[in-house]
Amino acid sequence: MSPSVKPPFQNRLLTPIQYVKGVGPKLAALFGKKGIYTVEDALYFLPRAYEDRRSIKKIAELKVGHKEASLGEIFLSEMVFYQNQRKRVFEVMVKDGSGVILLKWFHGNERYLRERFKKGRRILFSGEVRWFHGHKEIHHPDVEMIEGEVDQDSLNFNRIVPIYSEIEGLYQRTLRRLMKRILEEYAPYLESPIPAEIQEAQGLIDFREAFRRVHFPPNEESLKRLNLFQSEGHRRIIFDEFFFLELGLAIKKRQVTLEKGISFKTDGPLLQKGLSQLPFSLTSAQERVLKEILEDMERPHPMNRLIQGDVGSGKTIVALLASLPVFECGYQVAIMAPTEVLAEQHYSTASRWITPLGIRIVLLTSHVKGLERERIYRQIRRGEIQMVIGTHAIIQEEVEFHRLGFAIIDEQHKFGVIQRGLLRKKGVNPDILVMTATPIPRTLAMTVYGDLDLSIIDEMPPGRMPIETRVFSESSRARVYRILKEELQKGRQAFIVYPLVEESEKLDLRDATRMAEHLQREVFPDHRVGLLHGRMKGEEKEAIMKEFKEGKIHLLVATTVIEVGIDIPNASVMVVEHAERFGLSQLHQLRGRIGRGNHPSKCILIAPYRISEEARIRLQAMERTTDGFQIAEEDLELRGPGEFFGVRQSGLPDFRVGRLIRDSAILMEARREAFRLVDMDPQLLSPSHHPLRAALMDRWKGRLELATIG
Ligand code: ADP
Ligand code: MG
Repeated sequence: MSPSVKPPFQNRLLTPIQYVKGVGPKLAALFGKKGIYTVEDALYFLPRAYEDRRSIKKIAELKVGHKEASLGEIFLSEMVFYQNQRKRVFEVMVKDGSGVILLKWFHGNERYLRERFKKGRRILFSGEVRWFHGHKEIHHPDVEMIEGEVDQDSLNFNRIVPIYSEIEGLYQRTLRRLMKRILEEYAPYLESPIPAEIQEAQGLIDFREAFRRVHFPPNEESLKRLNLFQSEGHRRIIFDEFFFLELGLAIKKRQVTLEKGISFKTDGPLLQKGLSQLPFSLTSAQERVLKEILEDMERPHPMNRLIQGDVGSGKTIVALLASLPVFECGYQVAIMAPTEVLAEQHYSTASRWITPLGIRIVLLTSHVKGLERERIYRQIRRGEIQMVIGTHAIIQEEVEFHRLGFAIIDEQHKFGVIQRGLLRKKGVNPDILVMTATPIPRTLAMTVYGDLDLSIIDEMPPGRMPIETRVFSESSRARVYRILKEELQKGRQAFIVYPLVEESEKLDLRDATRMAEHLQREVFPDHRVGLLHGRMKGEEKEAIMKEFKEGKIHLLVATTVIEVGIDIPNASVMVVEHAERFGLSQLHQLRGRIGRGNHPSKCILIAPYRISEEARIRLQAMERTTDGFQIAEEDLELRGPGEFFGVRQSGLPDFRVGRLIRDSAILMEARREAFRLVDMDPQLLSPSHHPLRAALMDRWKGRLELATIG
């Protein structure tokens, strides 16, 4: 486009929807409720489905139970009163020579309807055909008046018609008209400068054309593919989204892997010694992952690897083993955990396995204060301490390492990329290992952690006791208490988890605080009941957790604060109250707190009798499987990536059209092309890639550092 015809807005796509002819402030407010503020948002508001109105049938041919379109002449229209149902219905009778059909409106302005549906007029109509007392009818049909000949350019008939998701107060017809206008005026400003070679290799159609076709498909499109979001237009738009994401990730990853890192010698005796001290042998998944890590550590570039594995799959042990060569090479190791309890747990594990090898370890949390803290800082700085385990206290400015060579981050989704960066800076390009207990489907992992290499521990250590999961309704509460009592009498411990801390005004939730008191006094007077919730101070929480760990508290009533990695092998029952209110991954995380010892465990999900269909699917999934990956896939399908753990936090864009699981084939292709491109031109410096570079910077909005073009 030459500068002289450049529009007044820097980017015309950001024109507020209000300024589109025919919109105005009132309609703009309606669009706003759907998150549509600019014309670009509107262009990305793709139809949720398509209806086939290409062929207009005779009334006699209309099939009951199908969505059909037809045309005819009005020969009767009137408001009808149904005494017995006390209902007013506006009815229009239409004929076409082949048959008769009745169109009904159960609400609407009578004067308007009368005016519109005058006897003798010809109309096009469509909707689901019903059978009622021996005749066909359609309720609230989509209707268009015919003046003279049938309009060949109609947006609503004689074509595949887009169905948009409902915008309250806006008719589909109005939406279609506005969409058409927006497409005509603004689609020319859409850009997706994917190199021609890639477009060709991938058989991609023109980007602007893709939007036109997706909103108003040409008649030869396949209705089935459209409805599956698999038309060429859909593919082009989704490819664009994924490609620019992957391109950014490829560049990030490339930058890191080109940097100089530490090349560790990993075949020293310490690792062998450590392995021989373990009272068990590694699972083959652990062995494989340990090997992947060690290979990375040998390379002269920084490692950036994610270990993914279900709770209890043995990630921590693998990470600790991988630390051994680091000590041997004279470097330090840091482990950062999201909570103090978890940090302490890692500390005690490490003390058990690592300290006997002559390695000095310290626990650094916010509890360590004053002189003690100063002393620890000094020892870390001088390299007298080789392993530092702690919370985010580790990334405080005052903490200086002597030679940090390896950083382990547990439960990544609680931290995010920024903290990862801060920890990295404590050393000189140390190797980084991220552990996550939230199993993430591979497709999602490739995007959320797209700049990391992925290792998966998909096997549990042998001898795990099974967890039986069952859904109980509110009315079976007495039985639930009996089960609890039995376990407590056997010396086991139990969790009861609540969604909220205090009773909200409207919701009839059992409040954790009151419930704890009730359980203590009336149900389990012979056992000690403890309470843990998010509004407690950190120290209070720690104290309670400690008592529970030490077996002084038998029954712990808690909100979801117990979610993360806590290891209480003696806990064998978990009751989740209002289980229907929890997400699937969250339920799975919670359940991971039990089944960690030598006792078969029970997970009891209490839910009301009446719950939503989606909630039912979640609870059934919990009953069916304990496989975290399977659960994660189902969860991603149910909720979409935006809601999935940590995706928001990670600073990645939400997809407007693409869906990771549905469109995983496109994602793989986009990733392959993007990575190949970055292999050839790591900073996109070749002149032919300048438009691509500009588009990339725009999409990533400052989250990507690129070398400046000299
Ligand atoms: P994660 O960090 O994945 O939650 P951990 O490394 O904490 O798992 O291991 C969970 C428990 O299983 C620990 O008590 C650990 O000692 C034990 N464990 C780990 N690997 C094995 C194995 N291969 N065989 C038997 N037990 C194991
Ligand atoms: Mg762990």
